[in-house]
Amino acid sequence: MSLIRLNQKAYEFNLDQIANKAGNFDRVICVFKDNAYGHGATLLAPIAKSKGINFVAVKNEQEADELKDFFDSILILSHRPNGNENPNFIYALNDINLIKSFKPLTRIHLKIDTNMHRNGIELQDLNKAYNDILKYNLKFEGVFTHFSSADNADDFYLAQRNNFKKVKEWFYKNCSKKLIFHSFNSAALFNSEIPKDEYCRVGLVQFGYGALHLKKVLSLYAHKLSQRILKTGQSIGYSNAYTANKDLNVATYDLGYADGLFRYNAKRELRLANGKKILGKMSMDSFSCEDSGDEVCVFNDATLWANFFDTIDYEILVKLHPNIKRVVV
Ligand SMILES: *Cc1c(COP(=O)(O)O)cnc(C)c1O
Repeated sequence: MSLIRLNQKAYEFNLDQIANKAGNFDRVICVFKDNAYGHGATLLAPIAKSKGINFVAVKNEQEADELKDFFDSILILSHRPNGNENPNFIYALNDINLIKSFKPLTRIHLKIDTNMHRNGIELQDLNKAYNDILKYNLKFEGVFTHFSSADNADDFYLAQRNNFKKVKEWFYKNCSKKLIFHSFNSAALFNSEIPKDEYCRVGLVQFGYGALHLKKVLSLYAHKLSQRILKTGQSIGYSNAYTANKDLNVATYDLGYADGLFRYNAKRELRLANGKKILGKMSMDSFSCEDSGDEVCVFNDATLWANFFDTIDYEILVKLHPNIKRVVV
């Protein structure tokens, strides 16, 4: 039985750091999309709630349903309007041409394209978008944007921030309703001052990545299926990719690429948390290494795997299969 352990103290510590930076717990929107970045949304939700988090963002209605008993405000980021929206959820309005497709009285946050060009309405369309929101009788509750390069704090990021400032000013001038504004993601959170009139909307930092002072929440374990002595000259696994040059006590563990790990192809050295090398190619449901006892920690820091596979922490975490058993410790 492979296993994910979620460290409650680490998660609470990270939430404290985030709330401290944001000003307060009710200034934080926790991004819980994709099973809370592979961690396990329904396991972390009660912890976030008891800490004082009351606003989360998710991918779709299915994820929102799973969390509706924990949080009053749930923003759905990736929804295509169909006229059947749930009045309890909040929906991101991503495209000016789809305003008319929402059910009347749907709660919305308007997404602004401040230059990332992925989703949202353009600055020159603010007036039209606002008029359409009124015309189609939507419940207008917030305005937000997303940064493409906050991790570099470069000119592009500063220009995006400036654009969003202009957007806020426009709404202060033209809309009498009190709106919620948010733009800061994980990359932006700890590298600049958060404007007093904004919430922050963060995913990755909750889980201990993206800032050095945070604590990793997730660790991944596998359990021993079998053990043998691999004799000098014998190979292990598919296509004999590893051959022992001395007698070796090896074991095979119950975690493989079907569980969401990248398939290790044995071409360069990849090590487990205990420093042991994975021996041979990873199989669909197992891998082999020097015998490390009944349970072995595969990783407690996804960055090692992200670097090895030339990807980002997010992808290593989010791919962990939802069927892997998860426990809070
Ligand atoms: C995923 C996502 C976030 C969270 O990003 P992090 O880098 O994990 O903080 C924020 N906003 C939107 C729109 C997103 O899609």
